[in-house]
Parts: sequence; C-alpha cells; structure tokens
Amino acid sequence: MMLHHDVLIVGGGLAGLRAAVGLSKKYDVAIVSKVHPIRSHSIAAQGGINASLANNPDGRDDTCEKHAFDTIKGSDYLADQHSVEIMCKEASEIVYEMEHWGCPFSRFPDGTIAQRPFGGGGYPRTCYSTDITGHVLLNTLYERAVSKRIKFYQEWYIVALVTDNGRCGGVIAFDLVRGKIIPIAAKTTLFATGGYGRVYFHSTNALINTGSGIGMAYKAQVPIKDMEFVQFHPTGLIGTNILMTEACRGEGGYLLNNKNERFMEKYAPKAMELAPRDIVSRSIQTEIEEGRSFEHALGKYIKLDLRHLGEKKILSKLPGIRKICIDFIGIDPIIEPIPIMPCQHYSMGGIDTNEKCETEMKGFYAAGECACVSVHGANRLGGNSLLETIVFGKLAGLAIDEYLTNNDVKADEKIVQDRKDEIEKKIIRLVSGSGEKPFILQTELAKTMSRNVGIFRKKEEIVEAINNIINIKERYRNVCVSSPSRHMNYELMNTIELEYMLEVAHTIAVGAHQREESRGSHYRRDFTKRDDTQWMKHTIARIGEGGGPVITSKEVTITQYQPMERIY
Ligand SMILES: Cc1cc2nc3c(=O)[nH]c(=O)nc-3n(C[C@H](O)[C@H](O)[C@H](O)COP(=O)(O)OP(=O)(O)OC[C@H]3O[C@@H](n4cnc5c(N)ncnc54)[C@H](O)[C@@H]3O)c2cc1C
Repeated sequence: MMLHHDVLIVGGGLAGLRAAVGLSKKYDVAIVSKVHPIRSHSIAAQGGINASLANNPDGRDDTCEKHAFDTIKGSDYLADQHSVEIMCKEASEIVYEMEHWGCPFSRFPDGTIAQRPFGGGGYPRTCYSTDITGHVLLNTLYERAVSKRIKFYQEWYIVALVTDNGRCGGVIAFDLVRGKIIPIAAKTTLFATGGYGRVYFHSTNALINTGSGIGMAYKAQVPIKDMEFVQFHPTGLIGTNILMTEACRGEGGYLLNNKNERFMEKYAPKAMELAPRDIVSRSIQTEIEEGRSFEHALGKYIKLDLRHLGEKKILSKLPGIRKICIDFIGIDPIIEPIPIMPCQHYSMGGIDTNEKCETEMKGFYAAGECACVSVHGANRLGGNSLLETIVFGKLAGLAIDEYLTNNDVKADEKIVQDRKDEIEKKIIRLVSGSGEKPFILQTELAKTMSRNVGIFRKKEEIVEAINNIINIKERYRNVCVSSPSRHMNYELMNTIELEYMLEVAHTIAVGAHQREESRGSHYRRDFTKRDDTQWMKHTIARIGEGGGPVITSKEVTITQYQPMERIY
C-alpha cells in the first residue's frame, strides 16, 4: 500500500496545524503525528506568546520594531534580522487571528488581551492565558484543523525522509497501532517535528521531543544550522525538570541564594530576574558552583520565591504552576519558595531554512522548533517560540502553495518504494538477534550531553562528549529491541529514533567544539568573549562521508540593527 498527498505535514503541534489550516482549502493535506496532535509538546507551553499590541498602559508605545530589536539583541546578534522583522510584524495579526478563532486569552479589565513582562523584552508584550497558553492555542488550532477536514494519521511515526537528487519524494511512516510500514508519496513535505530536548538528561521537554525530524533531514543530506545553540531554562523544578514558567518572574517572582540575596543584582542590575534566559541560567549555575545554593536529596538548587505575590495573584495568574509544585514535590508556592535548577529547554538550531521555510531540498520545508530560520540566533527570548510556530507555520503554507501553483509537481513513487524496502530490512535486523538495549545507549548519550555540553563548555569536555557519541554510535550497530512484536512497540520506535538522536547530538557537540567564542547560550570557559570578527556567522552541518558532521558557515543577515554589547 502506498498513500499519496499533495502536502504531507509531519507534526501536529502549532506549526504543523497552522500550515495545514492555511493549505486545506486548495490541497489534499495530511498530518502525521506520533501522538494525538493535542499531545504535541506545544500543549505544555505555559507563559505566553509575544506581540506588540500596544493595548496596555505600560506598552502604549510598543512597536514591532522594538520587538524586533529586543529579539535581535536577545539573540546576541546571530538572528537573521529580515526574518525577525517578518515575525514581529506578523505577530499582532497572528494573535488577533487566534483570538477570532476562539482562543481564550486572559484579559485586562477593559476586555483587551492581557500582556505580561517576559525576559529580555522592553515592554509587557507576552499575551497569555493564565499559565496554560500552549494548551489553549493548540486546542484552538486543532479544532480549526478538524473543521477543515484535514486527514490525520495519528500514532504513526516517520522512520525516514525520502529524497533523491536534491528533491524530496515523501516519507516512510510506521503505523504504531497496526504495526505496519506505510510509504507516503507527497508532492511537498513539511517537517514541523519540534525540538530535540531529550538528547539531554535534564530537560523540560516531553519524552516525544527526540529531534528525530532534524536527524532524518540531516541524514537525507539536508543541511542543519547553528546546532551548538541549546537553550537552558533557568527554572526547572528540582528532580523532575518540569518547567516553572518565566511568567513566575514576569509576575514578580524573585530568585534567592542561600544568603537570601536576590543575586541577579550582580549579573543584570537593571533587568534582574527578567534578563534573558542565557544570562539568568549562567548566573544560577555560577551561584551553585560557588557554593551559594541550597542542598536537597535531589541536587543543589536555588529558590524561586513567589510568596510576596500573594495568594490571590498566584491563584489567578499561576494556578497550574502551584498545582505542579503541590503534586510533584509537595510544596505550595503560596507558603514556600520553589526549589529550581536550570535545565535544557529549547532547540535554537535546526533544519536550515530561509524566511519562507524552504530548505535546500526541493519540495521539502520545515517550520517551528525543528527549523532554524533563524529568528532566535544564539538565544531565544521567552514567548517568541509560540509566535514563531504560528507565523512560520502560516508562511510555510504560503510558500508551499506558491510552489505547487507554479510547478507541475509529480510525486515519485519509485524512490519511496525503494526506500520502504530498505527500512523493512532495517526493522527486521532490529527485532531479531541479540545485542545492547537501546535505553542504555540513550541514557549514556543524554548524560554525556548534560554533563559535557551544558551551560558552561570547555574544549576537553566537548572532545570527551564527541568521543562518547562516536562510541555509542558504534555500539548502536548492534542494538536490539526486546520484543519482535510490531504492534504498539514503543521500544522499536525509540530505537529507530535513537539513531537520529545520536546524529543530532553529534552535530551539537562538533558545533560547540568548533565555535571558539561565547555567544548567547553557547558559553566557552576557554573563550569567554563574543568574537564578531571570526564568528558572526551561522554554522551549517552536513553529514560527511565518514558519518560525522562537516561544518561550514553561512552569513548572518543584518538589516538595521548593528551588533552591540549586550547589557541588561
Ligand atoms: C514546558 C514548555 C513550556 C514552554 N512554554 C513556552 C511559552 O510559554 N512560550 C513560548 O513561546 N514557547 C514556549 N515553549 C516552547 C514552545 O512550546 C515550542 O517551541 C513549540 O510549541 C514547538 O511547536 P512545534 O509545532 O514546532 O512542535 P511540537 O509542538 O513539539 O510538535 C511536534 C510534533 O511533531 C510530531 N513528531 C515529531 N517527530 C515525529 C516523527 N518522527 N514521526 C511523527 N511525528 C513526529 C509530534 O508528534 C508532534 O505532533 C515551551 C516549551 C516547553 C517544553
């Protein structure tokens, strides 16, 4: 059996759904998602989505240019400025569109959409729905997609991207429920597969965030960009790594060390707790390393104190955060501070695309967290990712429409069928024979990444990580799953994805090794300064003949914002 579609979208998160909704009128569109779409990681977003609506008393003179400037400064000047300008310009329209489609945003007393301050933003421009913003956005878009009769293949996962001679022919999917490999030939394919957080051991990301889409594109010869830039969020709940949204600090929460000091005063005297995430994460890590943290059976931590906000504000603005704290560690933030530590949160790097979400491969597009447009450069500001997913989901739809309208595109069944046969052989190998268990390799990989390619990086540690990754890749050749069953075999899915996670990790580590400077989230203890002469450029990774990444570079687009020192 082979399926055919005009547009095949992999990913039922915000980026994938928004693209599908835009294309549904004219084309036969299908979405493949390894989980039910509303279980995509977008559902977990808490704090909000940025737009300069200028509708609140503190933000009357906010503009999309100011939003663009904050984003570019936040990116440590690595973002492509024309892409940032597009995103910030589209922002208000996107937020109002979501409102008109039924998204229940929180409101100011006068009925306008409420906005709160977020890190690195000059104005309160983060629109939200208490602390479940991703939940309401995703449900709104999902309902819209259902009403457009878009075809969903849920609990199907993609095993490979099919490309030939610089053109994309579709994908090979695996139906988890029926246990079958299904080739899908498509005129155009869009990856909206989300981030790779699970390549790290301590991550706020859902278990499904393996980055397999990025790894698949890379293995299919599509270049990937800026992989060394990994965001660490300052406030993960101790032990569980569940995110304590930046909105906690946006609403006025403090960070305290064991001397009861608001230590951010030393690191970012003006912005304090609302400095960008790279800066706050490094500050917390420094406090921990210099002995000014607290001890807990689950590790060293810093306190996130919300008590002074009062019960009323916590219950109305941060009810989900309170519930998570009570349910997971038995702490009520109305009465006690929250123990937090920084952990991996977001993937700035990803599949290299232009501002239209086009990749180098004809017929293949990427949008959302799996893509690197790049609007976040070396460090993303909170609230800009939800915005990116919806804006670039929409723009990917427009670019696909333009391509299909102007070209007589035919799906190439043969290349898809050939690839299917190859995958069948691979699966037979994975389920027969004996060998190492994939979860052991995955844990070793994730621990290596958290330990050696974390907030602070150093040559020797990165080299050790690269060697470990090469070793685990070698051992992966003999990996074997426990059960030969093909039905709902998550171990088989994880094993297939692990191959791609190893590639993703390899590109992160090699990128971090080569970039001998400190910029945004990438901080080298052995090269502590930003070096605009040598390193004001994107890194591009392609898979080399020997299997490892080959790194080249690409220019950063600068329009009107000249690089300056970042002071907050
Ligand atoms: C806890 C948390 C809170 C956050 N809060 C905020 C916030 O307040 N504001 C903000 O701006 N950003 C926030 N972010 C970031 C933001 O939520 C994400 O970057 C964004 O939602 C990603 O959306 P996406 O559409 O790109 O991908 P996702 O929503 O991650 O969806 C990925 C989709 O791809 C599918 N998929 C992946 N691989 C495969 C495969 N191999 N086969 C089939 N399907 C596949 C998945 O099933 C899923 O449907 C937060 C992130 C986290 C983790």
